[in-house]
Amino acid sequence: MGRIRILSDTVANKIAAGEVVERPASVVKELLENSLDAGASSVRIEIESGGRKLIRITDDGYGMLADDAMLAFERHATSKLSEVKDLDSIGTLGFRGEALPSIAAVSRLTLETRSKEESTGARVEIAGGRMLKCEEAALASGTVVTVRDLFFNVPARKKFLRTEQTELAHIATLATHYSLAHPDKTFQLLHGASELLHVTPVAELRDRVYQVFGGQTLGELVDLGIRERDLQIAGVEGVETVSFFLRGFVSRPQVQKLNRNSIFAFVNGRLIKDRMLLHALSAAYHNLMPPSCYPFALLFLDCDAGEVDVNVHPSKTEVRFRHGSFVHDFVRDSIRAVLMESRPAPVFPLPAHAQPAASLPYSEFTQRIENQDFGPLPPAVPPDDEELPEVAIERRPANPRRSDFSAEPPGIPPAATREDRPPDNRPISSAPVGGPLPDSHGPLAQGVLLDEQQNLTVLRDLRPLGQIHDSFIIAVGRDGLWIIDQHVAHERILFERILRERAMGRVEMQQLLLPIVIEVTAGQQIEYARIADELNSMGFETEPFGNRTVAIKAAPAGVGTAEIEKILYEVLETSEREFRRASLDDLRRGIAASIACRAAIKINTRLDQNKMEWLLDALAGTEYPMSCPHGRPIALKYSMRDILKGFHRI
Ligand code: ADP
Ligand code: MG
Repeated sequence: MGRIRILSDTVANKIAAGEVVERPASVVKELLENSLDAGASSVRIEIESGGRKLIRITDDGYGMLADDAMLAFERHATSKLSEVKDLDSIGTLGFRGEALPSIAAVSRLTLETRSKEESTGARVEIAGGRMLKCEEAALASGTVVTVRDLFFNVPARKKFLRTEQTELAHIATLATHYSLAHPDKTFQLLHGASELLHVTPVAELRDRVYQVFGGQTLGELVDLGIRERDLQIAGVEGVETVSFFLRGFVSRPQVQKLNRNSIFAFVNGRLIKDRMLLHALSAAYHNLMPPSCYPFALLFLDCDAGEVDVNVHPSKTEVRFRHGSFVHDFVRDSIRAVLMESRPAPVFPLPAHAQPAASLPYSEFTQRIENQDFGPLPPAVPPDDEELPEVAIERRPANPRRSDFSAEPPGIPPAATREDRPPDNRPISSAPVGGPLPDSHGPLAQGVLLDEQQNLTVLRDLRPLGQIHDSFIIAVGRDGLWIIDQHVAHERILFERILRERAMGRVEMQQLLLPIVIEVTAGQQIEYARIADELNSMGFETEPFGNRTVAIKAAPAGVGTAEIEKILYEVLETSEREFRRASLDDLRRGIAASIACRAAIKINTRLDQNKMEWLLDALAGTEYPMSCPHGRPIALKYSMRDILKGFHRI
């Protein structure tokens, strides 16, 4: 008795209908999912001519019983589902029972499979949906599906295929994604004679990320650990608890991508595209990253199968959550909390020679596939933990100064000019000068490396030395050299202070001697009416003043008169553009960011020692000292390790 059944019409009719075979990558996806569902621990994908000529997937999964080999090609034939209620909690990647027949209908397909329970296997050959052969065969256990001449009988579809490289890039991306979801399995992707991906089992997701993306990318990521949030649902049988788990990696806010290509989201092991999850991710980075940029993210959300409906779209890449807004907030809060906790400091790039030789950034990896330039691959071994000498070190007492600084330093000049640069976080090069030194391990290296702190908590103990161009504060700490952008640092301090004061309902204000009257457009007037209350609770006192004019009688403290008008225009303009759809919270943050930017110390401003110390201390006291409310980095660190590496001392 086989395992595969034909679904009844009642069940079949409830399955999201539609074509799944659009391009070679869709064939790879379906076959790969079948292999994973069959418990394979190793999957090998062979491709020729971008998948047009050949796609072969070999797995070591549990195989099919001989009786099932033919049945698998019937429509709605599956071993993964039998009743309608099974659709409510799908635990496998497949469930539609349509992939094999659909692929066989548009190609020349050979299935070779043997279950461990049987001594002989079966070989089935089908071309354009017609069964050519079905015979017993002596085979290793597991399954091999070979798909040749895709779309040979559907010329219209064939015409729509893109170039070989493009189709191949899609396949490579897919294989990479699935390899990330299964670090314990082997994945191999071959295009003709070239090996595009080969990863061997590793214990941790971190190791797989290293194998796939290389050490440089891994260094830019923050580990989410395992986050959990429970939802209590009142049901007929009392209160039920549903747990949601989130793990994975997200990038430091300084890693800013221009598109969403570096965002990978898996729900219960299934790669999905979901607007809600994307939104939660952007919300987590709100005010940490410019709105038009995206982070790198590798998210694994796991929950009870009953909490997600995967039967939404035939390609199974979309899902619907039963408790969408709960999941949204859970994901947003978890990522935000990790970013806050870890306070990762942006670091200078290591000199080129210090990079792991074989590592290749992911973008470059896919680029090479696009360009058919198959150079060295990402390394297939996990990173060695860098060995650090174990030496006891003496800790200096924390800097005793500045315990009484809680207010603004006296005499921060009001803003005179606006010094906003476009986001440009290209750090200063730290390329080494001169050749390597043979005697590299001095006591210096041993002591400081142990104490290296990777986060911004150390800001409090930094000693400012001076400014570069009256704009960037140079400071030294035990763990290296720091450069702090004074404008954005102050911006972050003010931003958080304003929001805090707003939350307590007392934003500090200054009355203006003469009201400022500004002219607004009709659109701005409508916008003004909508946000006037919020503006007024953020420290402004404004009121409509006749037709198309607004009078400002008071403004938040610390803002120069010349800036007040600019803030208002800026808020109205962004409000028209962005905030209309945004929440009150976003509007509030937007206004606070505008005020903070205008009130903050400008670049090209000389600061005395006291002010620099105050600034660093206040920055250390912020919740999020890494980036300004517009997402630019605040501080760059040249760690002791980088310095020693630069001088070839380690
Ligand atoms: P589905 O995956 O939705 O069940 P498919 O058409 O993809 O539908 O596959 C039909 C059935 O064939 C599966 O339910 C499974 O029992 C069997 N099958 C397909 N591929 C494999 C494989 N690689 N190893 C073992 N069984 C497989
Ligand atoms: Mg399937």
